[in-house]
Amino acid sequence: MHELLLKNIKDVYRNIANAAMKAGRDPHDITLIAVTKTVEPDLIVKAVEIGLRVFGENRMQEAQKKITSNELKGISEKITWHMIGHLQKNKVKPAVELFDVIQSADSLELAGEINRHAEKAGKIQRVLIQVKLSDEESKHGISREKIIELLGAMKKMENLKVMGLMTIPPYFVDAQMARPYFRELRELRDKAEEVGFHLPELSMGMSNDFGVAIEEGATMVRVGTAIFGERSHR
Ligand SMILES: *Cc1c(COP(=O)(O)O)cnc(C)c1O
Repeated sequence: MHELLLKNIKDVYRNIANAAMKAGRDPHDITLIAVTKTVEPDLIVKAVEIGLRVFGENRMQEAQKKITSNELKGISEKITWHMIGHLQKNKVKPAVELFDVIQSADSLELAGEINRHAEKAGKIQRVLIQVKLSDEESKHGISREKIIELLGAMKKMENLKVMGLMTIPPYFVDAQMARPYFRELRELRDKAEEVGFHLPELSMGMSNDFGVAIEEGATMVRVGTAIFGERSHR
């Protein structure tokens, strides 16, 4: 057993439970997605042994290598993979093959491409729509004004199942500063549900701010550093 990893995972679950109870929510309604970018397969195997089942990767090349590695191939039936990074159109085919959920659908074009490859693969691809709520150049996502239109178009795509919305707010040292972004994503979801779309999932919150995200309604939190430690920037 990997002692530090176990301690980190326990701490994260405790913080998820605390935030949920503070908000009057059931902690079981929140899925912990362990973000494994830059994490080697042997450590991911340890995390699976401890009990984690849902993992996120943000770059196709790295994900492809890792998911098909000998260490992880053998336990693949235990694991659910989420693509949480920007997806290029020419990487949609392997993404559909490898990922249970693609959280970064952010244009009609990309959605169409995912649907096309899902149909070829004989799969219903689960996706989230990534929404861009800040004006940072570096962030991807569809603008708030275009969500309903995109949802309408995606509803006609028979091999897609849209589960909800995802966002990445700017990084703040003070997590409370991220709250308006989380709240806005929830309100956008509520508005879409009022006009007939079913969007149960809200993917928001990372190591620094997942407690605040849960208070605002997150159903999926994407946590890397708090589980696996600081990444050495490559
Ligand atoms: C890296 C990453 C995370 C996890 O970030 P941490 O701060 O390490 O928890 C979450 N979501 C996305 C999209 C990421 O790229």
